[in-house]
Formats: sequence, C-alpha cells, structure tokens
Amino acid sequence: MEVAMTNPFDLSGKVAVVTGANTGIGQAIALALAEAGADIAAVGRTPAQETVEKARALGRRAEIVSADLSTIEPVQRIVDETVDKLGGLDILVNNAGIIRRADAVDFTEEDWDAVVDTNLKSVFFLCQAAGRHMIGNGGGKIINIASMLTFQGGIRVPSYTASKSGIGGLTKLLANEWASKGVNVNAIAPGYIATNNTAALQADEVRNKSILDRIPAGRWGDASDLGGAAVFLASRAANYVQGHILAVDGGWLAR
Ligand code: NAP
Repeated sequence: MEVAMTNPFDLSGKVAVVTGANTGIGQAIALALAEAGADIAAVGRTPAQETVEKARALGRRAEIVSADLSTIEPVQRIVDETVDKLGGLDILVNNAGIIRRADAVDFTEEDWDAVVDTNLKSVFFLCQAAGRHMIGNGGGKIINIASMLTFQGGIRVPSYTASKSGIGGLTKLLANEWASKGVNVNAIAPGYIATNNTAALQADEVRNKSILDRIPAGRWGDASDLGGAAVFLASRAANYVQGHILAVDGGWLAR
C-alpha cells in the first residue's frame, strides 16, 4: 500500500462558503475550515466582520457576502460573488437557520413559513446553485446543518422539526443524484450547543436540567465542538462518504 505523505484533511487552496458565519456554529465552522487551510466566503445578513478578521489572521483570504436567506433571492448571487472574489467554490456549509417556539395548537402560519423558508427552501436552492457550479468544476463538498430533530420529534417547534427532518431527506436525495458527479453531500447533526439559538432553553432551569441530565458528556456542546466534523466532511478524507448525517452530540442519541 502506498503511504500518502500529505494530510488528508488539508483544505489548502479550497474555497468554502459558510452561511450564518457571523456567530455560533457558523462562525466556529468557518474558522475550523480556515484553520485547515480554506479561504472563506462568510455569508449572512449580519456582516461577519469578526469571522473574516480571524480567518485573515490565520493567513487565509476571507470575504463577506451579504445575503438574507429568508428568501431564495440571493442564492445565485452568493455563488457568483464567491467565485468573483475568491476564484472558486469547493465547499458549501448550509448553516444559517432560525427557530420559533409555540405550542402546536397555537402555531402560526408566519412561524411555519419563516422557519421552513430559511431552514429548508433556501438550503435546497443554495445547494442547487452551488451544485451546478461544483458539477461543472469536477466536484465539491456540501455540508448541511441538521439537528437532533432530524431524528426526534422535539416539542413546541413544529416548523423547526419539519425543516430539520427535511434536511435529512434532502441530504440523502442530493447524495443519490450527485455522488457520481464528484459532489459529496452530507450533514452534521449538532446536539445541544450553547449558542443564541438555544439561549431560551439554557435560561429555562427545568429544561436546562433535563437536557443536561440526558447528555452522556455531561455538558452543553460548544460551537467549536463541530469544527472537526466539518473539516472531515469538507476534506478528501470523506471522498467516499455520501448522504451521511453525522451526529456531534456528546452521546445524546446513544441514550
Ligand atoms: P445562532 O447563533 O442563532 O446562529 C444562526 C445563524 O443563522 C446566524 O448567523 C444568523 O444570522 C443566521 N441566519 C438566520 N436567519 C438568516 C437569514 N434569513 N439570512 C441569513 N442568515 C440568517 O444559532 P446556531 O446555534 O449557531 O445555529 C446554526 C445552525 O445550527 C442552525 O441551522 C441551527 O438550526 C443549527 N443547530 C443548532 C443547534 C444548537 O444547539 N445550537 C442544534 C442543532 C442545530 P443573524 O446573526 O443575522 O441572525
């Protein structure tokens, strides 16, 4: 067997688009990819100034791409601007997402549409725009951010559960269509991670305790805990990994 002398996780020369890169999981993933060598297009509605500065401090090229992903209006522009500014698009991380909480009996159409449009519709159409580019360029890596609610029902979050369950199916469908075209489509399912998205749960003493009691690792995850999984799925080490949903959850699903 030939021993490869290069690092299979090295992302040098690759360009990664990360949506929702200004904070939380998106920022942590953008910086993990930058640390592994990738240049970064930091996409979002709040400018990801800090993320871009930190990526540049690591010696990477990094650019802000302004886009509100509550509609699909920006998806082609995200691809075009990334290619214009950074010369390519090899990795797409669909991280931007929102959550709305209310009892199912009271849940509004607005709370349904807002979440499904951002978390599922825009993700599909950004995959489509990036996928067309990647297929035309010999391949790429797409990583969708799923959730424990890709596997479980959750409570008081009907549109979020529907969107993240949808992400699981969409990831597998795209893998089926694009695996033979050199595009790997996978997902990461974070467990309970301390970010803005989970601030309400962390602040609720009862929910916080019941969540902590169930996590074998005994702590909330930190956004930086997602970095290794993202680098792996973005790298050539994952060339034969397709349609997989990788849980990074401190053991939550094993319970
Ligand atoms: P967060 O801190 O609330 O970050 C969400 C990101 O999405 C922010 O950058 C936000 O931008 C961006 N975003 C939301 N709506 C957008 C829009 N219309 N256009 C552009 N960007 C938009 O939450 P997070 O925990 O890091 O969440 C990141 C992803 O992980 C989400 O998909 C979430 O569902 C998923 N996730 C989180 C957990 C967890 O425990 N935290 C668990 C499972 C899955 P702004 O700052 O401008 O709002």
